[in-house]
Amino acid sequence: MPAMRSYDVVVVGAGIIGGAVALRLAQHGLRVALLDRQDPGREASWAAAGMLSPAPDTPADIPLVPFCRASLALYPDFVAEIEEISGQNTGYRREGTLEALFSGDAERKLSTLIALHHGLGLPTEPLPLDEARKLEPALGPELRAAALLPFEGSVDNRALTDAVLAAAVANGVELFPHTGVTRLTSEGARCTGVIAKHVAEGQGNAGELAIAAGNVVLAAGAYSAKIAGVLPPSPTRPVRGQMVALRSADVRLRRVLRSERGYLVPRDAVGGDLRKDAAPQLMVAGSTLEDADFEKRVTPGGLERILSAVLEFAPALSGAEIVETWCGLRPDTPDHLPILGPGELDNLTIATGHYRNGILLAPITAKLVTQWITERHVYMDWEIFSPLRFAHAPAPENT
Ligand SMILES: Cc1cc2nc3c(=O)[nH]c(=O)nc-3n(C[C@H](O)[C@H](O)[C@H](O)COP(=O)(O)OP(=O)(O)OC[C@H]3O[C@@H](n4cnc5c(N)ncnc54)[C@H](O)[C@@H]3O)c2cc1C
Repeated sequence: MPAMRSYDVVVVGAGIIGGAVALRLAQHGLRVALLDRQDPGREASWAAAGMLSPAPDTPADIPLVPFCRASLALYPDFVAEIEEISGQNTGYRREGTLEALFSGDAERKLSTLIALHHGLGLPTEPLPLDEARKLEPALGPELRAAALLPFEGSVDNRALTDAVLAAAVANGVELFPHTGVTRLTSEGARCTGVIAKHVAEGQGNAGELAIAAGNVVLAAGAYSAKIAGVLPPSPTRPVRGQMVALRSADVRLRRVLRSERGYLVPRDAVGGDLRKDAAPQLMVAGSTLEDADFEKRVTPGGLERILSAVLEFAPALSGAEIVETWCGLRPDTPDHLPILGPGELDNLTIATGHYRNGILLAPITAKLVTQWITERHVYMDWEIFSPLRFAHAPAPENT
């Protein structure tokens, strides 16, 4: 018979989404358990680039833009609060993004981009080339057109995720690392808790744990589809993204550079290096979009694509130091939109499938999920993200 514990809410998955949701619920006075099958905060939320960009990457992202804008508006207060509670710096920057166009038809693409963004309420501005070079002197000779997205920002997602988890624990959340949920439990149409396996590091499986809960939140990222008993099933799938971190004493970036082929995100020295203007600058570059199942591997082809985009932005980075390479699994969904809201089971709320925008969307996701659980209504219409749109999808394999 598994040991039984009981909480107001069990949150499955301690990435930035589960961590932020757990924090907000605890701030409402609820007893919250936050479970992760490994060290918390070491999946997509660790692997990301940390751009805070509400601009759509593809037409499929357009329905997400109002939601992204609303979350971006919450960011300054969210970061200030997390930094205050945790006492940790999150590397939040609000310098904007420079969109660089390199192809022959750059001017036409620029007009299309500006018209699209203005239609979506995003105040993107065209930038004359000499202005662009003044803003970012590292830009290379192939630049054909440029736009400034002054409303965008970035954050050190590893630092932010760690700080969110620390803030959650400081507010009373009980964090269970190495506790993998295998299935949800239910009675009739009501979700009643989870069954988890505690795997102590190096000691193998130490047995099952049954946790009863008034509410369950599923926030297991790309792995959400592997958990049994979720109704309707959450058909998340992993999309691998490779990344490279560079350090350069010659090139300094003020803002994020983005093109059709990749991006380059400057990082502040988290921890407050007083000489950071003089120190070599760290920047992260990405990424690939690969269907590689759950295999995490950095490949020569992936790195070649990322590094050629980097050198197109700033040829002077050819002598930069490569300090780290890694990859992560974005939680994608069949329509590339998040799966967010109540499922078919009472007391089950799903918060997954944030695909390429989960760092940006953490504040609004936490706010809506908490509002739903505590008040059973939400201040923003989240119907397009309803888990019920996948009610007739085949059940994913439970591996
Ligand atoms: C290369 C790359 C670049 C990205 N760049 C950006 C960006 O610039 N801006 C942006 O906004 N987003 C970006 N993203 C997307 C963003 O990282 C994700 O959308 C976000 O991290 C999702 O957060 P999450 O908490 O849902 O998932 P995760 O961070 O993956 O967390 C899920 C957690 O659930 C745990 N888990 C899984 N299964 C179980 C189980 N059975 N029981 C218990 N725990 C379980 C995992 O261990 C993990 O800790 C990027 C992603 C990648 C990979």
